[in-house]
Amino acid sequence: MNIKDNSLKLYNSLSRNKELFVPIKSPNVGMYVCGPTVYGDAHLGHARPGIAFDLVFRYLKHLGYKVRYVRNITDVGHLENDADHGEDKIAKKARLEELEPMEIAQYFSDRYMDNMDALNILRPSIQPRASGHIIEQMEMVDKILKAGFAYEAKGSIYFDVIKYNQLHHYGKLSGRNIEDALENTRELDGQEDKRESVDFAIWKNASPEHIMRWNSPWGIGFPGWHMECSAMSTKYLGEQFDIHGGGLDLRFPHHESEIAQSVAANGSEPVKYWMHNNMVTIDGQKMGKSLGNFITLDEFFTGTHASLAQAFEPMTIRFFILQAHYRSTVDFSNEALQASQKGYEKLMSASETLMKLKATDQSDNDIKAWQTKCYAAMDDDFNSPILIAHLFDAVKIINSIQDGKMQINAVDLELFQATFKTFVFDVLGLRHDQAAQSGGELSEQLLELMLKLRIEAKENKDWALADQIRKQLLGLGVQIKDTKEGSEWILSK
Ligand code: ZN
Repeated sequence: MNIKDNSLKLYNSLSRNKELFVPIKSPNVGMYVCGPTVYGDAHLGHARPGIAFDLVFRYLKHLGYKVRYVRNITDVGHLENDADHGEDKIAKKARLEELEPMEIAQYFSDRYMDNMDALNILRPSIQPRASGHIIEQMEMVDKILKAGFAYEAKGSIYFDVIKYNQLHHYGKLSGRNIEDALENTRELDGQEDKRESVDFAIWKNASPEHIMRWNSPWGIGFPGWHMECSAMSTKYLGEQFDIHGGGLDLRFPHHESEIAQSVAANGSEPVKYWMHNNMVTIDGQKMGKSLGNFITLDEFFTGTHASLAQAFEPMTIRFFILQAHYRSTVDFSNEALQASQKGYEKLMSASETLMKLKATDQSDNDIKAWQTKCYAAMDDDFNSPILIAHLFDAVKIINSIQDGKMQINAVDLELFQATFKTFVFDVLGLRHDQAAQSGGELSEQLLELMLKLRIEAKENKDWALADQIRKQLLGLGVQIKDTKEGSEWILSK
């Protein structure tokens, strides 16, 4: 596939339109996605952007683009409820568990990566940490101050939204105007030193109990949350780059403020295409700790949450999320996940059947037309549910050929196999987890074989060999019990 032949339609949040995506001048694509804040376990809400932008990353790479994918890790302690005082979230956890704040951040970023690996989410090209880019953030704060779009108040630096809005439009991404914003932003965030409620801190003065703190020209403090993404995207992707992604909940004020910061500091719009994934709900309700429906990914994988009917394999979760378009909400229920599990298994078994099909002289299906439809679905704003519908059409064809009701010639079969594999495994990023299961079966069969060999040794009165087998299996955690009927094994570990 030549990228020049392809005209992707992406929905751009900024224009609320699907437009042609033509970075054809250069095959290089820069993509930045807001990553996790690492002070707790990842939940279903983290899997959604992980998978949504993995799909974008995988498909663009498949088309031949060279993608530099940057996803940050927010490890600078931000405050509980964004209050101006008090402990930051990471420091609070560190105090409760008697650990260094960075131990907490490392622990949860490792666990996050394990979860993302389990979901077969490709690792981004760069995963910068906010705490490793304090200098870049201070430099950007300084640029904004010098450009006259920020002011200092008691050691904190605030972005002057009113002044910025006189020259630019603060609210263009979320479709707001400044009057709405002024009306809707009440003085709840504790930043009482700022001039206007819509202003936001780009550098905050640290209170004595705030552990994650750095020296700056404005005193000891820490950067405002919106600042890390502006500073790190500029550093790794330049002042203007192609795609910025994140959850819909980040559109305002986080991404809106990122635009304002970049325009103020660099004089240019930072992003060509803004993409936002929609939210995950649980039985129609928003997910949240206070609602008691907050299920971590580990709990899904092990089935250890009261709301779960069973454990769900990572690939079931992945398939479930891909069955909805990234801009639609996804509603979790046990029934929905069980249906996804069946769908995933159906796709995997069809894939096995397809690889074993035999070609004949004639073809009853237009495989080339089916392939074109698969590409068209993905080209239309990464429409994974439509693609999956085409893949299920393929499953019907595969089964009909298998049952001898349809035929396929050698050229079509090769195209069919290659295209099916490409979309199921490379683009949707599904993985055939059968290997792990059959690995378990294989171990069992090998154990049975060892037991048989030991019985044979005993029958041959080769006591030394029989004893050696018993001892060595015990060393591996397998205990052999001799009974009247023969031998059986139990796992002693
Ligand atoms: Zn961000």
